[in-house]
Amino acid sequence: MTKKLYLEDTYQFHFEGLIQEAGKDEKGIFIILDQTTFYPQGGGQPSDHGIIKNDHFEANVIKVTQFNNEIKHYITSTTNEVPVGSKVYCLVNQERRLINARYHTAGHLLGNVIEILYPKLKAIKGHSFPGEAYVEFQGDEAINATTLQNEINEAIAKNDKTKVFEIDPESFEQHFYKLSYNIPENKKFRAMQIGDMLPVPCGGTHLSSVGEIRHVNISRIKAKNNCLRIAYEVT
Ligand SMILES: [Zn+2]
Repeated sequence: MTKKLYLEDTYQFHFEGLIQEAGKDEKGIFIILDQTTFYPQGGGQPSDHGIIKNDHFEANVIKVTQFNNEIKHYITSTTNEVPVGSKVYCLVNQERRLINARYHTAGHLLGNVIEILYPKLKAIKGHSFPGEAYVEFQGDEAINATTLQNEINEAIAKNDKTKVFEIDPESFEQHFYKLSYNIPENKKFRAMQIGDMLPVPCGGTHLSSVGEIRHVNISRIKAKNNCLRIAYEVT
């Protein structure tokens, strides 16, 4: 099982790891490390890119996936054999990590702000890929785009801190709200909270405060079949 350093610190961009396994599947050549700060694609957030290297080996990481706690770092083809059992130095592309964290954190903020402004709407899905980001809400209510944009701007200016914490489903529902899906009892999960707004279960990478998002531009609001999709850009 790979230790997930990215859950502990969004701003850790390099680390030393041990190559435990290398292989090839339908997606390409992959490396499995004992620990990683490369974020695997998931939760509507794209994976990190970067470099894995030592004195005898260097490869670009172009995709990272997770399946059953196994994290695969897919690399561009390399002429050198992957040195299984060796220590490597790993460098995450900082610019890509931070733009992804800005988009992802903005999705959380948009979800919270909408739910406060329009309590009949409930955020059900977030997709935070740059250039195609949106949050989907269940419910049908007319949104005032200007009010929403102003509230988002104010929330960013307020610069609330974010926090992540581990909590079991029972305590979560006792303190906050009923979860819309089942999480095994007594199994703790990770939740993310902005300021004193409602937290949501999430395994993504978040900024430490919403001011770091800088600016969110609401680009499109579309209602269809009791579902509202709000698209946004981060600038
Ligand atoms: Zn998140």
